[in-house]
Amino acid sequence: MLMSQLYSPTLRETPAEAEIQSHKLMLRAGLLRRSATGIYTYLPLGLRVIRKVEAIIREEMDGIGGQEVLLPIVQPAELWHETGRWDDYGAEMFRLQDRQGRQFCLGPTHEEIVTALVRSEVRSYRQLPLRLYQIQNKYRDEIRPRFGLMRGREFIMKDMYSFDRDEEGLDKSYWDAYHAYQRIFARCGLEARPVEADSGAIGGDVTHEFMVLADAGEDLVLYCPACSYAANSERAEGVAIEPDTSLAQELETLTEVATPNASTIEQISAFLQVQPKDCIKTLIYLADGRPVAALIRGDHGLNEIKFQKHLGCSSLELADELTISETTGAPVGFAGPVGLKIPLYADYAVVNMYNAVVGANKEDHHLINANLNRDFQVKDFADLRETMPGDPCPRCAATLEGARGIEVGQVFKLGTKYSSALGATFLQENGTETPLIMGCYGIGVGRTVAAVIEKNYDEDGIIWPMSIAPYQVIVVPVSMKDQAQAEAATKLYQDLQKIGIEVVLDDRDERPGVKFKDADLIGFPIRVTIGSRSLEQGQMEIVLRRTKDKLSVPIAEVVPTIQALIKDGE
Ligand SMILES: [Zn+2]
Repeated sequence: MLMSQLYSPTLRETPAEAEIQSHKLMLRAGLLRRSATGIYTYLPLGLRVIRKVEAIIREEMDGIGGQEVLLPIVQPAELWHETGRWDDYGAEMFRLQDRQGRQFCLGPTHEEIVTALVRSEVRSYRQLPLRLYQIQNKYRDEIRPRFGLMRGREFIMKDMYSFDRDEEGLDKSYWDAYHAYQRIFARCGLEARPVEADSGAIGGDVTHEFMVLADAGEDLVLYCPACSYAANSERAEGVAIEPDTSLAQELETLTEVATPNASTIEQISAFLQVQPKDCIKTLIYLADGRPVAALIRGDHGLNEIKFQKHLGCSSLELADELTISETTGAPVGFAGPVGLKIPLYADYAVVNMYNAVVGANKEDHHLINANLNRDFQVKDFADLRETMPGDPCPRCAATLEGARGIEVGQVFKLGTKYSSALGATFLQENGTETPLIMGCYGIGVGRTVAAVIEKNYDEDGIIWPMSIAPYQVIVVPVSMKDQAQAEAATKLYQDLQKIGIEVVLDDRDERPGVKFKDADLIGFPIRVTIGSRSLEQGQMEIVLRRTKDKLSVPIAEVVPTIQALIKDGE
């Protein structure tokens, strides 16, 4: 490819829309352009990187017996009604109608479509196991699309679905995918840590997320420095706390106090001169439409996923103002457990609280010295709070540490959730009809590219790993007007092309500084500079993007040196 022809408009300035490095650099290096919020056009260099990541994924998926299919983007609503997800998916789903008024969605995920496909084709255990995958655009109308390819509304994803006859088969599919993912990310030059995660809206029980630890990550990963435990903070388990009698205090008299204009934990604790950990937050939720309350220590946060799981409800949302005033008799900010006539669920940490500050269910008032059992009862204790760095590891006694993480892949054991709902069954060897046992396995292709950049850049631009660089080499003559340089550069360019090396020749009539800046910004792993003085000495200069090492190499040695560098880099 000639640089003069390459459609890769680079930018000297960082566009205002970009907040994180990968997004800034993809725009500046001319890999990507925004078409609408969270929706992007991939320019030639960006698409080459995407295709290389896809090629690695294909090899590894094929290697574990995956077969590639291409499922539709536009999916009929009926299938989603069969699993109940048409209603459950909510506003994140892009919905549309055809001219007959039939409803469709733009696939946010493909469990329904793929399960409906196999239910009419797979009849017997003899056809199992079956592993189907695709690399496809997906659509989610995110509330806050941001960070370029990190959280878009249209994004490229690899998804594989496994169908097995029993749990043992599912287990094998799961771990085959898990190990393939480890190889895929390593081949892309990424260190991705598998962590225990929550399965969220997709359902299922066992799941791991593959996290790249990076400051730009949207997730908080908690990990134990002493054992191998690592989990997304949404999922990280808390440790059950037993009542500890040594902490018991004398129970003081329950007293109502006026707290004008103080409704948040910060305001209350400042006003009453107590610590947030001496207050109990009472949060009113609607669980499947019915009000319930969660009691959390004032310095802790409620984990809604854990709360919903504990309740076993299909929807959970913070109660609206009307419900709160009807339930508590007070406006928002003064709810408390004493006298509240809805089910109360308390986090474990509330067990050992004495003489706590709670809302009085009365505007501008709180109660001090509220005590469990004497003043209020709870229906249940559970692990309801967000686990944080500094909390004890649930597997050993060490203290958890925290880091930001980018989720690049996830593996789930779905079980029979979708096959049961959609009637995807098969005949076992003994003739009984049972639902297929499923797993699903996703990789965010664009997000993987973004994560690679987050881990591989410097002040000059992107530093691509050799395996996914858009081109491996750029040849830069200092001046194309110099005939000797132009001839030597063109010959090297052709020689490299002949042996299948991906190379760009910077044939532009630009100052060398401009050419070097663009080469560094785009991040070609190897640059060959051809100048008059080195040519006279029978040499060319090879510059390595990552280390900035410069090697003067005799002209005859340039091609083999490049070959060796590429081999090393892969
Ligand atoms: Zn541990």
